[in-house]
Amino acid sequence: MTLKAYRQKRTFSKTKEPKGELRDTGQRLFVVQEHHASRLHFDFRLQIGGVLKSWAVPKGPSLAPTQKRLAVQVEDHPVEYVDFEGEIAEGNYGAGQVAIWDRGSYTMVGDQDPQEAWNSGRMSFQLHGDKLRGQFNLVKMHNGENNWLLIKSNDRYAEPEWKLEMIMKSGRKTVSRQAKPRARANTPARTHP
Ligand code: MN
Repeated sequence: MTLKAYRQKRTFSKTKEPKGELRDTGQRLFVVQEHHASRLHFDFRLQIGGVLKSWAVPKGPSLAPTQKRLAVQVEDHPVEYVDFEGEIAEGNYGAGQVAIWDRGSYTMVGDQDPQEAWNSGRMSFQLHGDKLRGQFNLVKMHNGENNWLLIKSNDRYAEPEWKLEMIMKSGRKTVSRQAKPRARANTPARTHP
């Protein structure tokens, strides 16, 4: 694991994103960030070893087991990124607003080692978040190097009729009864076509 790709894509004098460092804190955190970049997507990240293993999920995660979500593996992010939200300024990689959509911890199913599971292309874990709970599975597809599927297991937390609710509109964070108070970016929202 390395942060080389992460750092190469960014100019840290121009973005508020953390430069970060490899830090194996032994925790198992997860975060989902709603990211209003040129294309809206949700970033799903699991702390594995000293980094956040990361996937871009165009449609966002789902609590419905029938809704298998494409999750495109992207570069490892620093562990500090679990706390990041706000604006990535115009002209920078991933420019647009980022808001923490959900976060919490995870536990592997069957006491699997997370790194070994990631290496094998098949991970099963329990999420302990505010929105995402119960077992999820990440399964690497054979037809594309970086394409995985994020699939909810059919357990007591599954919601077949579940629909994702965004927490931002046009890149601006909206007040939600589920949202915890967090520092807001002092920058105007960008409008998106
Ligand atoms: Mn993103």
